[in-house]
Amino acid sequence: MTTLGLLNIGALATGLLDRPRAEAEAMLVRDGRIAALGATSQVGAAEAEIVVDCRGSTVMPGLIDSHCHVVLGDYTPRQKTVDFLDSYVHGGITSVVSAGEGVHAPGRPHDPVAAKALAIAAAKCFAGFHPNGMKVNAGSVILEPGLTDDDFAEMARHGVRHAKYGFGGYRQPGDGQPEVRAAQKHGLCVMSHSGGTSIPGSSPISAEVLLHLRPDVCGHVNGGTTSLDEDGLRRIIDESEMALQVVQAGNLKSALFILRLARESGALHRVCVASDTPTGTGVMPMGVLKSVCELASLGDLSAAETIALATGNNRRAFRLATGTIAPGEPADLVVCDAPVGSAAPDALGAIARGDIPGISGVIIDGEVRVGRSRNTPLAKRLASVKGLALPGGH
Ligand SMILES: [Zn+2]
Repeated sequence: MTTLGLLNIGALATGLLDRPRAEAEAMLVRDGRIAALGATSQVGAAEAEIVVDCRGSTVMPGLIDSHCHVVLGDYTPRQKTVDFLDSYVHGGITSVVSAGEGVHAPGRPHDPVAAKALAIAAAKCFAGFHPNGMKVNAGSVILEPGLTDDDFAEMARHGVRHAKYGFGGYRQPGDGQPEVRAAQKHGLCVMSHSGGTSIPGSSPISAEVLLHLRPDVCGHVNGGTTSLDEDGLRRIIDESEMALQVVQAGNLKSALFILRLARESGALHRVCVASDTPTGTGVMPMGVLKSVCELASLGDLSAAETIALATGNNRRAFRLATGTIAPGEPADLVVCDAPVGSAAPDALGAIARGDIPGISGVIIDGEVRVGRSRNTPLAKRLASVKGLALPGGH
């Protein structure tokens, strides 16, 4: 049994939209899961084998990038960059959800057999591959005409849990409804492209088509990169229960419009934050953190609630097993503080102002993977780790 303790926690963001903050000075992690939270004298964190002294920093759930363009390995063919997932962990992202390996696989044919094979291969490869500890939820099948009920049953048996719509060889954007239903019937979470075309091979998908297809998630509903019109967004929010994914690599004005509308309609629980990278926009290790800062500071949402959009809300929409801080949950955590030079006193204050916080600890399944982040600005207060030597640590 291995134990990890966190001491001197300043603020705690839970990842839960209805209770976005909790009071706890200390946390005990046992065998990768949160065992106890509360007062230092009660949780026994100081006696753990490895102790992280947060020195007043904020602790939040590891961010989830629910729209990440993985293919195979820690390599993006789109931007020809290696080790990007490793770098995303330094941006506070501890889990990603594939947006369809086929989207960026060079030479991908519109062939149901290839789509199925690629999804199963990716699901199985990433089940055993965790760059810097990153949890890669891969195996997102590109829906193609010709995929049968048996195909979906086989994929589900082999670990495929997600599907992506909008890049298949359909004549009209709305033609894939049978495959969307078949995927859902076998328990797959279906995310559709939304808005104008992105890379060659994608189709524009309007609000009307989304309401006809009824995927589980309207992927990059603020545009990837071209947004939907305002009336269409209103209809999606009012006439459906689909999750609304807002991405960094989209239209910011549209993202703020969606946030406001969702709040007014009591639909904030449907809003999820993601990066939609690597794409033409680039490789963005701080993509999710940047979106959190933009939505909180410009969208007038509290920092802790905005963090929940990028953690607990992604967990629910994409049916993941992490994203909130509570006893029993996997210990996927980020320790951060206001950056040096910020007018804010702590990380939540920095996010509220639009300043990207400095990360001094990233923990995945109870294992400290990153000390001082190589990507974020320097934090005012730096966590220190006892009982473990960290590469580039402190
Ligand atoms: Zn995308």
